[in-house]
Amino acid sequence: MLLTEDQTMVRDAVRAFVQDQIWPHAPAWDKAHTFPKDVHKGLAELGCYGICVPEELGGAGLNYQTLALVLEEIAAGDGGVSTTISVTNCPVNAILMKYGNAAQQNQWLRPLAAGQMLGAFCLTEPHVGSDASALRTTATRVSASADRATAVQDGDGYVLNGVKQFITSGKYADLAIVIAVTDKAAGKRGMSAFIVPTSAPGYVVARLEDKLGQHSSDTAQINFDNCRIPAENLIGAEGEGYKIALSALEGGRIGIAAQSIGMARSAFECALKYAKERESFGQPIFNHQAVGFKLADMATQIEAARSLTHHAAALRDAGQPCLKEAAMAKLFASEMAEKVCSDAIQIHGGYGYVSDFPVERIYRDVRVCQIYEGTSDVQKILIQRALA
Ligand SMILES: Cc1cc2nc3c(=O)[nH]c(=O)nc-3n(C[C@H](O)[C@H](O)[C@H](O)COP(=O)(O)OP(=O)(O)OC[C@H]3O[C@@H](n4cnc5c(N)ncnc54)[C@H](O)[C@@H]3O)c2cc1C
Repeated sequence: MLLTEDQTMVRDAVRAFVQDQIWPHAPAWDKAHTFPKDVHKGLAELGCYGICVPEELGGAGLNYQTLALVLEEIAAGDGGVSTTISVTNCPVNAILMKYGNAAQQNQWLRPLAAGQMLGAFCLTEPHVGSDASALRTTATRVSASADRATAVQDGDGYVLNGVKQFITSGKYADLAIVIAVTDKAAGKRGMSAFIVPTSAPGYVVARLEDKLGQHSSDTAQINFDNCRIPAENLIGAEGEGYKIALSALEGGRIGIAAQSIGMARSAFECALKYAKERESFGQPIFNHQAVGFKLADMATQIEAARSLTHHAAALRDAGQPCLKEAAMAKLFASEMAEKVCSDAIQIHGGYGYVSDFPVERIYRDVRVCQIYEGTSDVQKILIQRALA
């Protein structure tokens, strides 16, 4: 794939940081379930928190193709760190860029892009993930006149109640974009999007999930317990929440595809190195055609996924529709990545199954790419609809 000079520069800078600050520490973070705050500071200094945010709002002023490159590099070092960066760039920044007003962009997007704040996105609930139209979390408008006791002091606002499930950065984020029901009778058109500071009373981190992989990212269940926010924290208009959430998922899927490629590439590189070093029957296992062909397939699949992903990103950068292409990229890249990571374990033989070698961790980390931001089945539904 041909890169511009700027893209090469950004990729190389992130790659160097990852090789130095992330890859060597990933096994320890995995074992200790560490959220590496200092590394996030470093990534913020590199501009990774605001890749697509315009420079006048403190971002790097780049595009989705560059975001895909950056996420691939970070994921090649550690899957969990890449998920944290992915969510804060898109959906969080993307929503504020497209639907936030000037005041919201100044107050929230600016510090997000500078890496002074971390964002979370709250869509999924305990009973519903794929079918986002069935949310139950409510946001009730409270006016000064209706709730004199508190509203006079706080101004008009909304009170949120409900539970959000599997929220990336739910614990460490400074703000969350929350999709909640404002008018139950209106169905999909009765949902709205809100900016909720995680310091707001009633934003409760109910539990942290004990996951198969990605231990360096935090995944939390969040309770909204009479969580009151000011009326000006409504994003867009009431009733636009579903549309806002879906618009962000498109870009998010490009991000997950890029993460999948990064993890697959990393596992592939480990397997290639191992295959050239490990000997059986008097020669490096790389020379056995079964192993060499496996590596050839892995390299080809990674390249194909990268092409699909950058195609979707290029469409998005050009302002063209890319729902189908983003779904295809996410579907192909995440399924490919699990297979490539599994093959990387196979090439390592028994050593692939133990934690002394990175492929064991990467295989656990990559599995969720087939699930979050829409499962593989959901991507197929989107592609099927586009073909109808
Ligand atoms: C580590 C992690 C981080 C996450 N981060 C976030 C986050 O930051 N914010 C957020 O909002 N969510 C987040 N999620 C939630 C994630 O997006 C959901 O788990 C995902 O969308 C699937 O929803 P579900 O778990 O409710 O599964 P379900 O929707 O219950 O699906 C269960 C199974 O049924 C299948 N299925 C469902 N409906 C259909 C259908 N119509 N046709 C065919 N098959 C179907 C699915 O493909 C799946 O295999 C995260 C999840 C994880 C594990």
